[in-house]
Amino acid sequence: MVRALFLDRDGVVNVDYGYVGSVADVTFCDGIFELVKTAYDNDIKIFIITNQSGIGRGFYSEKDFLEVMGYILGIFQDFGCPVVDYRWCPHLPSELCACRKPQPSMVLELAKIYNLNLVKSALIGDSVPDIQCGIRAGIRYNFLLSRDAQGKRKSNEPVFPQKYDGIKTLMKEKRWKEFLLDCILEGNR
Ligand SMILES: [Zn+2]
Repeated sequence: MVRALFLDRDGVVNVDYGYVGSVADVTFCDGIFELVKTAYDNDIKIFIITNQSGIGRGFYSEKDFLEVMGYILGIFQDFGCPVVDYRWCPHLPSELCACRKPQPSMVLELAKIYNLNLVKSALIGDSVPDIQCGIRAGIRYNFLLSRDAQGKRKSNEPVFPQKYDGIKTLMKEKRWKEFLLDCILEGNR
């Protein structure tokens, strides 16, 4: 079975400016290519799962979103660590859909299609719903990036025991290395 790394998009892959609806608004997060390349080189497949209520709110269209994704995927391809696939939820929170994180359906759908071993997979997010989605899907390694640096942390957000102030910090963590090692061991069996 295949190991996966699920990335939230805004706030993990690219800087979250609120709503990112055009290529001009894409600034990649510090260290993201290094991290994804490390995962890719350990036979881990890369996926992006993103809540995009900006579509439902009419801030940008699905076509705008797809254009941004095309751009992002092209850059990862150029760096030699292609993103395999992605899923997005265009709905408003009030629509109570089945796909918006913290619901796990985007992860579960990809897991089914690509035969993913979620117990040996990881997820990186910058919000509590991201992490809840990972836990509900059965992903073992869930990493929460702090939003403090961007000043966007919500005051009602519960504090998780582990919270990383950036991708480069996360990559030095024992838990990240455990995730990579878990995969290496599996690969040698
Ligand atoms: Zn949805």
